[in-house]
Formats: sequence, structure tokens, C-alpha cells
Amino acid sequence: MKIPTTDSALLRKLADLVGAENIFASPEDRLAYAYDATPMYESIPLAAVRPTTVEHVQAIMQLANAERFVVVPRGAGTGLSGGSIPVARSVVMLFPSWKRILEIDQENLTAWVEPGVLTAELHAAVEAKGLFYPPDPGSMRVCTLGGNVAENSGGLRGLKYGVTKDYVMGLEVVLPTGELLHVGNKCVKDVAGFSFKELFIGSEGALGIFTKILLQLIPKPAASQTLLALYDDMQKAAGTVAAIIAAKIIPCTLEFLDSTTIRCVEDYARVGLPTDAEALLLIEVDGHPAAVADEFEKIQSLCQKYGAREIKIAQDAAEADKLKTARRSAFSALARMRPTTILEDVTVPRSEIATMLQRIQDIGKKYNVTFGNFGHFGDGNLHPTCLTDERDRDEIHRVEKAFEEIFLAAIALGGTITGEHGVGLSKKKFLEKVAGPAGITVMKKIKQVLDPNNVLNAEKIFDLKPKCEYPLQVPPR
Ligand SMILES: Cc1cc2nc3c(=O)[nH]c(=O)nc-3n(C[C@H](O)[C@H](O)[C@H](O)COP(=O)(O)OP(=O)(O)OC[C@H]3O[C@@H](n4cnc5c(N)ncnc54)[C@H](O)[C@@H]3O)c2cc1C
Repeated sequence: MKIPTTDSALLRKLADLVGAENIFASPEDRLAYAYDATPMYESIPLAAVRPTTVEHVQAIMQLANAERFVVVPRGAGTGLSGGSIPVARSVVMLFPSWKRILEIDQENLTAWVEPGVLTAELHAAVEAKGLFYPPDPGSMRVCTLGGNVAENSGGLRGLKYGVTKDYVMGLEVVLPTGELLHVGNKCVKDVAGFSFKELFIGSEGALGIFTKILLQLIPKPAASQTLLALYDDMQKAAGTVAAIIAAKIIPCTLEFLDSTTIRCVEDYARVGLPTDAEALLLIEVDGHPAAVADEFEKIQSLCQKYGAREIKIAQDAAEADKLKTARRSAFSALARMRPTTILEDVTVPRSEIATMLQRIQDIGKKYNVTFGNFGHFGDGNLHPTCLTDERDRDEIHRVEKAFEEIFLAAIALGGTITGEHGVGLSKKKFLEKVAGPAGITVMKKIKQVLDPNNVLNAEKIFDLKPKCEYPLQVPPR
């Protein structure tokens, strides 16, 4: 990729604010921050900058407003919708030195963390104290809590425990204009004024920069049991899921892999999966030992009743971890098959999952492209993953058509275009189909109030036209 010239005068001003040692502007550095985990998006920034204090972050935002450059916050760059990809005249903001768990408060069951803490590091720290932070994205060993809050990330335990937003109690935020805002606190109840917290959670780095995060913790479940159930038919797996929920059992994990993904995972991770199976369910229940034993027994009989051909039960925590590897390695396993892997993220009401999977299969056939499917069956959140080659323009054109149909099919079934990866750059053109013109107009107005010069992660989620072009009235849907 050709590296364009940078803006040396601007970089000198940035260096005056944060020190030259915190500016990364070599061609190699700029190339390294041109990407995140989203395929087919790349763009070279002017530089990357590493603030080490809140005052640095504020000063950079003030300079961005004065000099009209864009700041793109970046955690670990594992995002799958292009959220941390640079845009024109942008500087990437890094948080490698913001890795401290500042406090674990065992009386209030909260943790204050810096945004660069890795999700799995927080898990380990709180579990050592008998506490639990449930959100567990598949990328948890490498992604940051700042990125998790910005994307409102989910994980394998979402069905029972919810997603990141359910655990954020407070935030320290640097606004796009450089002001410092504190939202939320350790109080379980607080209805003083508008609740801004929700506005920032899932804002994809476009409304503010998190410099401290207050998270809720819960007691660590005393027991858990895990199984894999294998099926010859996806409909039977879907029937099992419906029956488990109808039996009023909410497992903490209820995940699935389809046949393509099972074969790729077995080839990659060698966990002993039969490669002729059509569907796999990974099910985990946790809680009080007596409740776990009771629910686990019922789940096993439901798996049998609804046609599982084989059930593998984890005998201990190590074996449970091995079974979970089958699900956690799905993306990496699929990614080995072709040069380009496009992992998508549609959600439908749980009752529509089997129909949605059939639609994905039909659409794949129609456009002659290969999809592996896996995801959070219990949440209705599917990850149709296309195995393709971005150098083949004809195939990529078919892939784009196929995904467009998949998004429309999800919306038609009462679903949405993203359950956890966000809109970013890659889904901008579909947002209006779910948010409607009124929804988009409100979002743009909020962005303009907080970021009048459009200097924070501009061009993500939607494109802003010059300020006055937006009508003051919300158009009817
Ligand atoms: C193998 C793999 C598995 C994955 N599994 C899951 C999964 O199970 N569930 C799920 O939800 N996602 C998953 N993801 C997607 C991704 O890991 C999540 O979106 C994650 O939260 C991104 O964190 P990050 O630190 O990499 O952030 P980045 O990708 O660097 O950034 C993501 C967004 O956060 C913003 N941001 C980062 N830091 C800050 C900050 N301090 N303040 C404000 N904004 C900030 C960025 O601007 C960007 O918009 C997966 C990705 C991969 C590659």
C-alpha cells in the first residue's frame, strides 16, 4: 500500500502536547494502524498518538477541533465493523499504557478499570476474589474493555447474563470537544437527570473517549456443567433449543456450529468432533450446585428427546474448556480455509433462527458462495461467515449481494443487522433500514451536539453532511 505524506507541522503540535516519544509516524507504524480485524478495509492515518494522562486526551481533542483532524480511538483493533480504521486526515489514539485495574470493591461489587485492560485479565483478577464479570467475547484474551464498552460487546454467556451494557455502572469520558464528563456511580439506584451512560455504551468511539470505566461484578457461580450435543439435522438442534427455553431453563451458554464450521474446527483444533455432523450445540448451565444438577439432567433428556445423536459431557473444568474451544475457535478455524473471511453478525428473534439459517443457506446457493455459520443460538445472534477471496472481484461482488440479502432477510424476520459487532464503516449503508429515517436523524443530531466539528471517529455509523443540512424536525417514518 502506498503511504501518503503526513502533516509534519501537525505532528509537531501533537508532540508538544504528549511528548515526541508518544507519536508514531514511521511508514511501518502508520501501516500497522491502517487495519483492524475487519476484512477489506484499510486506510493510512497521519500518525498514531499515545496519550498517557486524561489531560493529554483532552488536549488532543482540543487540538483536533482547532486543526480539524479526526481522532480515531483504538483498543486492540479486534473490531469487526471497521470502528478503529482511520479515515481521511486522522490520527489513531492508542491506550497501551492504560492497563490498570484501579479498584475491586468487594462491598459494592464493582471494579474501576482503565480502558486498555484486556477482558480476560479482568476475569482472572475478579475470579481470584470469588467474583464474576460475565461478558466474554470470543476475543476476550486480546480485546480491551474500552473496545467492549464502545461496541457493547456480547459473548458466550449473554443468554443468561446479558452483554457489556448490563455491567457498566459509570464512565469517565472525554467529550469530542475536550471536556471531561463523569456519568454513573456505584449506586444501584440513581435517577438524577437524564441517564447519559447508555448513550455512550455502544457509541463506537464516536461520542466520547472512555478514560475510566466502572463495572458491576456479581458473585462467581458456585458450580457449572458443560456438554456438546451433536445432530444430523439443524432443525433438531433448533427444536432442542426451543424445548430448553420452554422448560424455563436459561443456560448461561447456548451456542451452535453448523456442518461447515464443525469440519473446519475439527481440522483446526482436533477436539474429536464427528465431521459428518450437521449441527452442534454447546450448552453450559451454572449457579447453585443443586440447581445446576437438576437443569443439566433435564437438558440432557431434552437433547436426547429432540434427536441428538451424541452427547459429550465435560467431566471437569479442563474438559469443559476443551469443549468450549470448539466454539471459541470457530472464526480462526474458518479463516484458514480461504484467503478472505468475512464474518457477519445478524440477529433475529430466537424463534426465527432455523428459518434464518435456511435463508442463509439458500442465499449462499443462489450466489454460489460458501458460508459457515455459528453463533449464539440462545440470543438469536448468528455469525454467517463467508469464505472467499477479495482478489476475485466477481466473487466479491456476489458475496456483497449475498450479504445484502442476508441483512434484508434478518430485518424481514423482525431482526437486526448487528447484534454485537457494531455498524462502523462496514454496515453504514444498512443502518437506515433498521433505524428508519427518524432514528438516523436523531442519531446525527446527538452526534452534532456532542461533536460539532465532527472530529471524533468521523465517518463511522453514518455520514454527516454539513451541519445546517439536517432538518430541525424529525421526518415521519
Ligand atoms: C476472533 C474474534 C472473536 C470475536 N468475538 C466477539 C464476540 O464474541 N462478541 C463480540 O461482541 N465481539 C467479538 N469480536 C469483535 C471485537 O473483539 C469486539 O468488538 C471488541 O469489543 C473490540 O475491542 P478492541 O479492544 O479490539 O477494540 P477496537 O477494535 O480497537 O475498537 C472497537 C471500537 O471501540 C472504539 N474504542 C476503543 N477504545 C475506546 C475508548 N477508550 N474510548 C472510546 N472508544 C473506544 C474504537 O474507536 C472502535 O470504534 C470478535 C473479534 C474477533 C477478531
